[in-house]
Amino acid sequence: MQTQILGLVTPLMVLFFAATFAVFWRLGNLPRYVLGFALAYVFSAVGFLITHLAPEGAFYVFHTTQLFYSIASTLMVACVCERAGVRLHFGSFAAVYVLSAFALAVAVGLSDDVGPRLIIVNIGYGAMFLMGVTTLLSARRRSAIDALIVAIMVFQAADFLVRPVLTLLFERSIPAEVYRESIYYSLIGLVLGVKGVTTAMVLIGATIVDWTRILRGRSDTDVLTGLKNRGAFERTIRRLLPQAEVEGRRLSLVVADVDHFKQVNDIWGHQTGDTALSNFAALIGQMVRSCDTAGRVGGEEFCIAVWDCDNGPAERLADRIRQAFARLQHEGLGEDIRLTASFGVATAREGETYDRLFSRADAALYRAKAKGRNRVENAEVRASEEPLAAPAPQAPMVKLA
Ligand code: GH3
Ligand code: MG
Ligand code: MG
Repeated sequence: MQTQILGLVTPLMVLFFAATFAVFWRLGNLPRYVLGFALAYVFSAVGFLITHLAPEGAFYVFHTTQLFYSIASTLMVACVCERAGVRLHFGSFAAVYVLSAFALAVAVGLSDDVGPRLIIVNIGYGAMFLMGVTTLLSARRRSAIDALIVAIMVFQAADFLVRPVLTLLFERSIPAEVYRESIYYSLIGLVLGVKGVTTAMVLIGATIVDWTRILRGRSDTDVLTGLKNRGAFERTIRRLLPQAEVEGRRLSLVVADVDHFKQVNDIWGHQTGDTALSNFAALIGQMVRSCDTAGRVGGEEFCIAVWDCDNGPAERLADRIRQAFARLQHEGLGEDIRLTASFGVATAREGETYDRLFSRADAALYRAKAKGRNRVENAEVRASEEPLAAPAPQAPMVKLA
């Protein structure tokens, strides 16, 4: 009776970990691999409970526990791989399961000794974890927590492959009817407990690291457009300015503001306005390089930090975005209506602060507005160098003929 109760400690602890992962997943709205960890723990607890509570010597015990532990191992490995951004080859896992299930059926049919059965099923789980380790090693992320996960997967594989053979060296034959009285069985409860706790600690650590990263990402992201919000954009460009000087690169700033945007809201409604803003942001996202940083710094105002880019190319980039935006159709706005935006461009000078750089780009933007909108003004071009242009009419919006 006492052994029966003690034997429940491990599955209950494993179920507690399952609940922890499920709560993390739900509270943090975390990726599905966190829920996968919870399910892996549930399947392994059920596997353990079947071994522990089924009638002694029941013929189905090994087959059913093998199924549950195989699902648990596959889920655990698949989830750590998904977390690392690599895909598992599920066919290989299915093949390992089918092969070891077949070998187990033969072993159960041939002998009453559980030794060969234990070796067969554990080799199957060990092979699954080994395949997981090789897949994980092909992943690009290599932080301390990623290395710990690989270590824990190696530990799992080694335990499954080595422990049964070692224990059975001491206990040469275990008849199925007295399996639960064997040394092997009392050891397995302990080993599963220790492995369950260490693996859970590492995975909980990884989940917390991921959660923190996700929270930081969410607080840096503008909800409507998915671009960086003002705070995140400013933090980035303040870091890039000195970096550009150290590396001897040019950093240009483009500031863009949608023209007459208030009228869009007034005429077509706020929701249509939102759609147009997301379209503009998506366009900017598509037209800049991955080394550039784009952000929404105000209601209908956007900034681009153009990395390693001199003034001329930055001005041309702004003009390409301007032209593409002026051609863009917006849902809810009427087929013949197009929006425009005005742009200001400035290139960082030696030792220039972000505030100074921004105010020069913003002044250029202001000039673009004053000169009739839907144009790019360059802060680096002195007024005397500019061609004389007649003030443009202040058209509210571009209506196609
Ligand atoms: P200008 O050409 O001089 O830039 O004129 P404008 O109407 O675009 O500029 P103004 O600053 O007068 O108006 C900006 C408008 O942007 C006012 C505000 O209602 C709208 N706006 C700000 N944030 C959002 C948003 O998140 N969604 C929508 N739909 N509108 C927004
Ligand atoms: Mg505007
Ligand atoms: Mg504005």
